[in-house]
Parts: sequence; structure tokens; C-alpha cells
Amino acid sequence: MARKFFVGGNWKCNGTTEEVKKIVTTLNEAEVPSEEIVEVVVSPPFVFLPLVKSLLRSDFHVSAQNCWVRKGGAFTGEISAEMLVNLGIPWVILGHSERRLILIEANEFVGDKVAYALSQGLKVIACVGETLEQRESGSTMAIVSAQTKEIADRVSNWANVVIAYEPVWAIGTGKVATPAQAQEVHAELRKWLHGNVGAEVAATTRIIYGGSVNGGNCKELAAQPDVDGFLVGGASLKAEFIDIIKSATVKKSD
Ligand code: PEP
Repeated sequence: MARKFFVGGNWKCNGTTEEVKKIVTTLNEAEVPSEEIVEVVVSPPFVFLPLVKSLLRSDFHVSAQNCWVRKGGAFTGEISAEMLVNLGIPWVILGHSERRLILIEANEFVGDKVAYALSQGLKVIACVGETLEQRESGSTMAIVSAQTKEIADRVSNWANVVIAYEPVWAIGTGKVATPAQAQEVHAELRKWLHGNVGAEVAATTRIIYGGSVNGGNCKELAAQPDVDGFLVGGASLKAEFIDIIKSATVKKSD
């Protein structure tokens, strides 16, 4: 089974109502490959989720950027998976490096979040990735597989999981991984899934790349055999996000 190309837009903590409406208008007017070729998911801040969901074209989908690790309750400031389901939000990003590093979300905690979100019926974009220091010390795969292991230990059905490989040194820095660097880690991750989870999961799970993807570098990255799409930060707020979606056509002849 071919893995459908996936393009996610992570808007992070950005936007006003007017700006959000403008981005949605741009997306709604864009001509992009069909849903059979590319799955597009945009992730606005929580407060804009209902607005974006109500205005966005029906072939694009909406994701939250985080959710609470268990059932909701006395957890001030948190948003539960149940609430997202109640609002009809199908996706959630979990384990983004900004949360792992700034909010000190541990691998185990991210694994718990992924398992709970899946149990509630959400689909999950689970982020993994190494820091520059970790890459330079040669521990990229040890880090990325340790992060993935805490998810794998808690998840039995991978159908609703997309793994986003996002090297921390490439996020928001303008310093994109080379196609060879991305391919190397994606292939290793797939090998890890094959050895530790199973052949079917390794073959079907989408592994997308994130870190300074833009309209200029997306095609070459998309052409890598184990790059199944992108998670895009900065460029997802701009019109070039459309070009990134269109890079899915690189895979069309697969
Ligand atoms: C991200 O935050 O997920 C990301 C990939 O950001 P950027 O594209 O801005 O590097």
C-alpha cells in the first residue's frame, strides 16, 4: 500500500482572527493535488480551531497542537482529547520539540499522550528529533529511537499515527536538513519500526520531515523515498505553503 503524502502546517502561537481568516482564504482558493494524492492538515492555536474548522475547505483538515495526557478535569489551562473530539477536530500534534524542550515534556509523558489521544479517537502527528549537540555527538538515532520507543511501548494500532522527524537544529532556523540527512534518519526510523514493531507498520506508517521546509527546498526533500511529507512551521503561514502541498506530485508515479 502506497503511503499517502502528508503535509501539515503548524501555525504555532501565531495569528489574530483577521490573519487566520486571511490564511484560510488563501488555502481555500488554492489549486492543489486531490485528496487521493495528498492529505493536508493545518494546526492553528486552540482558540482558532472552531473558526478554522468552520471556514476551511472540506478536503483539508484541522489539528490541535497539543492535548492533555489523560481524561480532562482539574488541570487548569489544559485542553483534553475529549474536547477536541467533541469539537470534531480529527488530529493533534504531540511531542513537538518546543514542548519537549521548553516545557520539559519527557519521552514517557509524550508516549502517554499519544496513547491517550489515540484511545479517544484522535489521529496523532508524533514528533521526534535530535538537538544539534546530540547530532554532533553521533547520537541522532539513539535519541530518535528512544523517543519512538516510548510511543511504540504504549501503542498497538499505528493506523492513526504519523511520525514527524524534526531535527531541533532545523526548526525555525532556516537551516534545513539536506535531502540525504533526512532520508538517512527516515530510513533508519523505518528500519527501527520494522525491527521493533513489525513489517506492516514499518511499510505503512508515514514518516514526515519538519525543519525549515519551504517552497524552494520541498521538492528535493519530497523526492526521497522515505520522506512521506512534511510538517511545516514558518512557511505554513505564507502562500508558499501551497507550493509545499504541490510537492506531493513528486511521488505521483510511485
Ligand atoms: C515546526 O515547528 O514543526 C517546524 C517544522 O517549524 P519550521 O518549518 O518553521 O522550521
